[in-house]
Amino acid sequence: MHRLYEDAAYDTSAWPTSHWRASLPAPPPAEPLHGLVKTDVAVIGAGYAGLNAALELAQRHGASVTVLEAGQPGWGASGRNGGFCCLGGAHLSHGKIVSRVGAGGARDFRDFQHRAIEHVADLLQEYSIDARQGPEGEVCIAHSPRALAGLKAEAAAVRTLYGEEAEILPGAELAERGLSGEGFCGALMTPVGFPIHPLAYAEGLARAAERAGAQVFGGSPVTGLVPEGEGWRLTTPGGVLLARRVLIATNGYSSEDLPPWIGGRTLPAQSAVLVTRPLSAAEKRAQGFTTPLMSYDSRNLLHYFRHLPDGRFLFGMRGGASAAPEAQRRNARRVHEEFARIFPAWAEIEATSEWFGFVCLTGSLAPYVGPVPGAPGLFATFGWHGNGVAPASLGGRLAGQLISGMPTAVPALMRQVPKRFPLPPLRRVWLRMGYVSRALRDGPLPPAKRV
Ligand SMILES: Cc1cc2nc3c(=O)[nH]c(=O)nc-3n(C[C@H](O)[C@H](O)[C@H](O)COP(=O)(O)OP(=O)(O)OC[C@H]3O[C@@H](n4cnc5c(N)ncnc54)[C@H](O)[C@@H]3O)c2cc1C
Repeated sequence: MHRLYEDAAYDTSAWPTSHWRASLPAPPPAEPLHGLVKTDVAVIGAGYAGLNAALELAQRHGASVTVLEAGQPGWGASGRNGGFCCLGGAHLSHGKIVSRVGAGGARDFRDFQHRAIEHVADLLQEYSIDARQGPEGEVCIAHSPRALAGLKAEAAAVRTLYGEEAEILPGAELAERGLSGEGFCGALMTPVGFPIHPLAYAEGLARAAERAGAQVFGGSPVTGLVPEGEGWRLTTPGGVLLARRVLIATNGYSSEDLPPWIGGRTLPAQSAVLVTRPLSAAEKRAQGFTTPLMSYDSRNLLHYFRHLPDGRFLFGMRGGASAAPEAQRRNARRVHEEFARIFPAWAEIEATSEWFGFVCLTGSLAPYVGPVPGAPGLFATFGWHGNGVAPASLGGRLAGQLISGMPTAVPALMRQVPKRFPLPPLRRVWLRMGYVSRALRDGPLPPAKRV
């Protein structure tokens, strides 16, 4: 299998060193596929997208479904993200979405994002998945006066286009709302979304899919996918699966050649996270950042952060363009440094876990849910950019509906097939250049200081 990054990033022999795995007892491992098995639908990848598709197909359409996962369910981004169940999925301004699919199409996509959050809330309730971690709402914090003007424009656009209200907080009100950080100038409060334990959600989904009749195999990387008869033949190290239809749900962990059509259409980008030891109430007050809401800053190279229920603090940001172990160590140092600059009162608080994973960008800057052109019975869903908790969940469900043959309203933005990136082998170079130009646009970080 050919992939864009160093092999270490795809080593499924162990779980990532995340707070999520450390804080949740691991279930018995899903066994690998053995021998020859036949199924209606094969799903490749047991993240939110693949598991939602499997659940939909098994529960509501009575299909026989087999999920093949290279690691264990939730091993990919779905078990290691920041747990922001929020609006998102594309990396386009509202204006760009309108110019691509019209105002109606933009409203459809916005509606999809809202429904995606409700969908996750419904799943947690319906399947008694204990993953919810805090109150509703999300805060985007302006890192400069110019950025605050941008947030005001964003609030106005959201009101005009979608009729939604969002509150703007001036800088002077941040302290009383528990939103103090270095260089924070104001904020945009969005009243939807909620934080979750991402791995508890992924593993709860896998259990729900299995109870609905889907078979979920772990340790089963698909290494071959070829048409056979009316369907497809999938090869894994331990067995062979014959399926009438197949969903590729591998997102940021996709291979370039499974199937070759996907090659060059995704750009996996690393996101890196640290989680601190629990902070005392006095330590929280010393920094003045006490809000229980999910938060992120307005930088193009954004930082995302939130308090966890046991007092720990989660802080995430972009990873570098290399997944080699020494590059990861350098990157982890950078995450600590930026954390300390933004929250100087916590500069000396130690991190108890650090990890990274892949989000998935596309050349169209929008996600895709649909058939693989020219390959009957083959479907794909990928490209959730930085926000896939909610969108990949509903996107997976829509993929399941499409595969079942039921009429399904996939928003027009998500039906457009992402083009290949120009000169695909150079994608990581483009990414590095993008990071540099975005950092320049963002301006400097607050200077380092120790309190
Ligand atoms: C560090 C980090 C922080 C993030 N924070 C947030 C956040 O707070 N909020 C948010 O909305 N989004 C966040 N995201 C993005 C979000 O996690 C993803 O968009 C979402 O989980 C994608 O789900 P998925 O099912 O499409 O892909 P994944 O969960 O990545 O699943 C793909 C699976 O496919 C498997 N696979 C790949 N190739 C094969 C093969 N050949 N055979 C079998 N299996 C294969 C992989 O092992 C993997 O488990 C974050 C991502 C990362 C990495």
